[in-house]
Amino acid sequence: MPQLIEQQRDFFNTNATKDINFRKQQLQKLYDAIKSNEQLLYDAIYKDFKKSEFDTFTTELALIYNDIIEAKKKVKKWSKRKRKRTNLVNLPAKSYVIPEPLGVSLVIGAWNYPYQLSFAPAVSAIVAGCTVILKPSEIPSNTSAAIAQIINTNFDPNYFKVVEGGIPQTTELLNQKFDKIFFTGSTAVGRIVYQAAAKHLTPVTLELGGKSPAFITNDCDLKKTVKRLVWSKFLNSGQTCIAPDYILLDNQIKDKFLALLKEEIKNSHFSTENGNYVQIVNSKNTERLINLIDKSKVFIGGNYNIDSRIIEPTVLTNVTFEDKIMEEEIFGPILPIITYSNLDEVISKVKSRPKPLSCYVFTNNSKIKNKILNEISFGGGCVNDAVMHISNSHFGFGGVGDSGIGSYHGEDGFKAFSHYKSILEKSNLIEPNLKYYPHTKGKLSLIKRVMGLK
Ligand code: NAD
Repeated sequence: MPQLIEQQRDFFNTNATKDINFRKQQLQKLYDAIKSNEQLLYDAIYKDFKKSEFDTFTTELALIYNDIIEAKKKVKKWSKRKRKRTNLVNLPAKSYVIPEPLGVSLVIGAWNYPYQLSFAPAVSAIVAGCTVILKPSEIPSNTSAAIAQIINTNFDPNYFKVVEGGIPQTTELLNQKFDKIFFTGSTAVGRIVYQAAAKHLTPVTLELGGKSPAFITNDCDLKKTVKRLVWSKFLNSGQTCIAPDYILLDNQIKDKFLALLKEEIKNSHFSTENGNYVQIVNSKNTERLINLIDKSKVFIGGNYNIDSRIIEPTVLTNVTFEDKIMEEEIFGPILPIITYSNLDEVISKVKSRPKPLSCYVFTNNSKIKNKILNEISFGGGCVNDAVMHISNSHFGFGGVGDSGIGSYHGEDGFKAFSHYKSILEKSNLIEPNLKYYPHTKGKLSLIKRVMGLK
């Protein structure tokens, strides 16, 4: 690994990646490599999760293609020097910032959307002009192998290389000095990555998880709320970092909401055969999830099959913040519902917990909407929808506090892998001698006046 990193550093130092055409070519190469290997990607993810072509395209490939197309279109604009104003003290001069690629980058992926979480950060690294070592999650082994095959047969390893492996290989990578580490995964492993990065003062982006709440107030459009909620929660069998983890439901609409929820889940016909339901990633996670189901609180579902790694869409009612299911991110198809009669109380409860990656508000009341949006700190979210904010690359995606550091997609991704050099370019026309010796009272008073101070 030290040799691979050294070779990437040597390549970076040739300045080849600073060329905008080079970046465009590499983005196109990535696009073509993925496009011509779509069937390989569909087959691999089906083997790992029984994920359908429809879901794989809409929740993984579409986002990657979109990011590549936008990056290719905008790379020139994003890489341009940007003029800044010059303050009076420095006139005459020009001021500008120059974006520069950070250098050799390490991207570590998570397993739940294995393609999106590996390729999308790589797109950000490429558009910024970094070299990339990509370590996909080892847990879905077929997708990891497919990613490695596509990249390692199409790209020069001195520029873009996939290294497969689990904790030992990641630990070895993290012992090396990188110029940027981009990590997607759990908060616990995020801490390990941050500590390893600190040894080399390497800047990080940490895309982590958390328990994302969905508020449902008594004046929401109930039918649409339920439809959107069921889709976003059970998509990928709940193995979505921004899935609504739990619901905070106004007690006044409890019965109506639950009746509609039951109907919607029934009508959704979730099954691997229908292609709208995926397997839990492995037996360890299946067992972890089963242990979170408090049988006395099951309102819908609750059945499972450990061998086929399937858990029915499950809804738990009469849940409290003290229940076991409220202690950790669920990351599976179990939806606990906490009812409230005092909104302020539940807002304080959410605020007393680690900052979530997302927060959703289903309401038609703008006062309530603004109260929740202003009072709770979270990465990003939606009003009257869930999950879909990730599909809008016009804004960045990331967490805050325990749910992450930094953001990416679109220009935020470019910035995540860039440093902005601030340059003051002085004119040689005149030399105001103010700062030089002798330091007189007159000069001091003039300096203060120029600065607008007394
Ligand atoms: P994870 O933290 O277990 O693993 C992520 C990566 O870290 C994998 O590549 C793995 O090989 C590596 N890794 C695991 N243990 C390690 C260790 N001890 N030392 C070094 N490397 C190690 O996460 P996961 O189970 O793959 O993913 C689930 C988590 O990721 C959830 O918390 C979810 O919310 C979060 N997530 C966040 C986002 C986001 O964009 N914010 C997206 C997807 C998933």
